[in-house]
Amino acid sequence: MKFQAIKGVRDILPPESALWNRVEQTAREVFGTFGFAEIRLPIFEQTDLFARSVGQETDIVSKEMYSFEDRDETSISLRPEATASVVRAYIQHGMQTLPGNVKLHYMGPMFRRERPQKGRYRQFYQIGAEVLGASDAPGIDAEVIEMLMTLFERLKLKGAVLNINSIGDKNCRPAYVEKLRAELVKVREQLGEDSKRRIETNPLRVLDSKLEQEQGIIEKLPRIAEHLCENCREHYAEVKRQLGLRGIVYQENWRLVRGLDYYMRTTFEITAPGLGSQNAVCGGGRYDGLVELLGGPATTKGIGFAIGTDRLVLSLQEAGEDAAQDGPAGKAAGPDVYLAWFGAAAQSAAIGLAKRLRDAGFVVELPAVEMKFGKSLGLADRLGSRHAVIVGDDELAAGIVTVKRLSDGAQQKVGEQELFSYLRTAQNPGI
Ligand code: ATP
Ligand code: MG
Repeated sequence: MKFQAIKGVRDILPPESALWNRVEQTAREVFGTFGFAEIRLPIFEQTDLFARSVGQETDIVSKEMYSFEDRDETSISLRPEATASVVRAYIQHGMQTLPGNVKLHYMGPMFRRERPQKGRYRQFYQIGAEVLGASDAPGIDAEVIEMLMTLFERLKLKGAVLNINSIGDKNCRPAYVEKLRAELVKVREQLGEDSKRRIETNPLRVLDSKLEQEQGIIEKLPRIAEHLCENCREHYAEVKRQLGLRGIVYQENWRLVRGLDYYMRTTFEITAPGLGSQNAVCGGGRYDGLVELLGGPATTKGIGFAIGTDRLVLSLQEAGEDAAQDGPAGKAAGPDVYLAWFGAAAQSAAIGLAKRLRDAGFVVELPAVEMKFGKSLGLADRLGSRHAVIVGDDELAAGIVTVKRLSDGAQQKVGEQELFSYLRTAQNPGI
């Protein structure tokens, strides 16, 4: 019996994992400079939390969640997204009493039972952030988007396109949705199965459809921009002005709606090249009513986003921005030093030297068993080591080591002090 990973989930292997680390580390750094702190959340929650917040009628809750009955018969679900958990934690820990806006970021796996394909998995990863607090100032929306674009810029993600829209609030959206529904009913027979169903459950989602036959129909539907109430219109205009102040380029997209119920007003999505039809690397928006819906203070507003890490990494790979060339800590992959030893006394010396080299930050490969000289150096080469350091009886007797640069075979005998400075210079040739 041979085991295989379950359909739609995958292993992230080296060297790709180094790129994942770089992406996550950069996100921590960039988000940190905007005053966001990390929250670590549980992987599973009560099913009701998601049913309430994401929405019973959404695809996510109605057919994509991994739900199961716990031993005490409560229904538990693997999280399909994390905003619900952040809001639950915010309420549970009374964070509304903290000064200013509460700014949190998170990263980790999410679970949705979708049809697996490139950029779409059943266990996938998100990096997200949320701002919760009493203010819904448009400047917050603009700054959250600025933070995202800063991250993408820092990662050298090329060709990212920011789409924005406003989908109104509880004052103006219901009337618009009714108008939309009325128009959709008239063209019902020309729509696909999904859209037909959504006339009842969630007419806004029809705008999102990529079905060829529906495109002409959708273009003629009423647009939300013409139905926003004054407050929403002003809010949206100010978000756009503030994006402008930050030099952020955006495209307005009236068909941009989100698949989760709790969004209102500002919504945004970022697409990136190299991903085929799964080209959204980030979705987000404002969700002012969510905290109240989950039993928290009615005065708390919120906005956030989630980046699809799998897709972000894919897009970086497609663009040749892999970390493989610059390795885990900004170095070429492979050890700095392959420490070849020959004989029991040399092994003992090599163990001590390896520790001192590693303490100084060098990546050291120390063979666990003694090998013949040729085989050992051959392995050093195949591992992509930059240097072989050789410790044998002769070296021990003279209190030195032989260091060999594997790119050109240049070698010399040096004392330990010299070895360290030689390796340092090799690492930073500019210095
Ligand atoms: P899509 O329209 O691509 O299904 P979504 O609207 O369901 O995306 P959100 O719930 O807003 O996505 O999640 C934010 C981001 O998470 C998406 O933009 C995408 O990058 C990523 N994402 C969502 N579902 C998956 C998945 N099954 N596999 C990989 N990434 C995903
Ligand atoms: Mg989806």
